[in-house]
Amino acid sequence: MDIQNEKTNDAAGVSASLRETSLAQILIREAWCKGCAICAEFCPKHVFVMRGNLPVIVDLQACNRCMLCEVRCPDFALTVL
Ligand code: SF4
Ligand code: SF4
Repeated sequence: MDIQNEKTNDAAGVSASLRETSLAQILIREAWCKGCAICAEFCPKHVFVMRGNLPVIVDLQACNRCMLCEVRCPDFALTVL
């Protein structure tokens, strides 16, 4: 068995490959959001803009799942899948 096949058949490798090709899903629980804009300010890919007191996803394709928005949201209003 060569190394290339081992990598291809590795379960973790398959999972990583799928993540690279599929869009992220970002759930915003509007009822929990207080409009602080931390998510929009810290997102390195400018995925959000604030409209009124809510973040709106304007460029989902740019999301690299770095999780900064989810981690920094003080109200647990964001989940990145
Ligand atoms: S996971 Fe990262 S890139 Fe994606 S929206 Fe959140 S902060 Fe932006
Ligand atoms: S960081 Fe959380 S509470 Fe603040 S605007 Fe974003 S989703 Fe809302």
